[in-house]
Amino acid sequence: MANCFKCGGEAVVHIAYTKQDVCKNCFCLQFESRVRKANYDFSLLRRSDVVGVGVSGGKDSACLIYNLSILSKEISFEIIPILIDEGIAGYRNKAAQKARELCKQLGLSLNSFSYKENFGLSMDELMAKRGEKRKEDASFGRPSCGYCGVFRKNSLNKAARELGCSKLAIGHNADDVAQTFLMNLLRGEKSGNERFGVAVDAGIAGFVPRIKPLVYNLELECAMYALLKELPFHLGECPYSNEAYRGLVKDFLNDAEEKYPGTKFNLLSSFLSLQKKLSTQKIVEESEKRVETIACPSCNEQFSGGEEICKACSFVNEFSTSAARS
Ligand code: SF4
Ligand code: ZN
Repeated sequence: MANCFKCGGEAVVHIAYTKQDVCKNCFCLQFESRVRKANYDFSLLRRSDVVGVGVSGGKDSACLIYNLSILSKEISFEIIPILIDEGIAGYRNKAAQKARELCKQLGLSLNSFSYKENFGLSMDELMAKRGEKRKEDASFGRPSCGYCGVFRKNSLNKAARELGCSKLAIGHNADDVAQTFLMNLLRGEKSGNERFGVAVDAGIAGFVPRIKPLVYNLELECAMYALLKELPFHLGECPYSNEAYRGLVKDFLNDAEEKYPGTKFNLLSSFLSLQKKLSTQKIVEESEKRVETIACPSCNEQFSGGEEICKACSFVNEFSTSAARS
C-alpha cells in the first residue's frame, strides 16, 4: 500500500490528475479546503446569511450540507435544508430517507416540497401522460430532464424564497459545471453561459441567489468524501436519466478524464476565466447587474419574459390541453 504524499500515512485514494496517493485524513482536509477556497474566490457566504441548501439524498448534496454545516460554525450563518420530491417512485422516496437521516445527524430539520403540490403532477404522472401522447404523436414533448430541470429550479427557488433564505446552495460539483458549459457550447446556446456560474441571480427580483460551493471538487471526489465520512446517501440512479443529453456529455468527459487526467479541471478553468472576462461570476458583480423580470400571469413567479407565461407553466399546459392538441 502506498504512502500519503503529504503525511506519510496509509494512502486510501490515488488522485490521477496530480499522480498523488492520499490518506483519508489528508483527502478530507483537501476536500474541505476546496469548499473554503470556492467560498473565498466567489464571495459565496456571509455572516448572518440564511442559506437554503438543496438536498436530494445523493452523495453531492450530502457533501454539500455536511461541509456547510462545518463552515456555518466558523462564519456563523443559518442552514435550512430543502428537499424537492419529483415524485419518482423507487428513487426519490429512498433518497429522501437518506437526506432525512443526514439532516437528523446534523441537527437540522428538513423542509420538503413536491412537484405534485407545486405543479399538480409528479414526474411519474408526467412521464405516463407523455407516453400516452406519444402514441398519437411520436415526437411529442421533450426529454424527461427538460421538464424536471425547470420544475426543480422553480421549486427550489420558490421554497428558498418562502423560507426567507438569502442564498440557495446547490450541490453542483466540478463535473456538473464543466458538463453544463460544454453542453451550452455544443447546443449553441450562446446566452446559456451568461446566467450560469458559481454564483448567480443575485439582485434579480423574485430569485434567491444560487451558489455552488462544491465547484472545485470532482464528482468522484464527492463520492469518496461521502464514503470516507460515512455520510448517509442513496446510490440509485433516476429511471429517466437515460434520456438526458447531459449523459452523453458526461460519458465523453469521463472517458477523456480517464485517458487525459485533468481534462475536467482544464474545462472548468476555461469556463471560469471566460466568465471572469465577461465580469459575470462574482455575486457582488451580479448584484450590480440589472436583469428585468416579470411576474408570470399564471403562477405569479418571476421569469425573464419573452413568452406569455413562465416555462414551468407552459410545461404544465402541455399536459392539460390534450383536447386542443389532438
Ligand atoms: Fe429529473 Fe432527469 Fe434528474 Fe431524473 S435524471 S431526477 S428526470 S433531472
Ligand atoms: Zn408561471
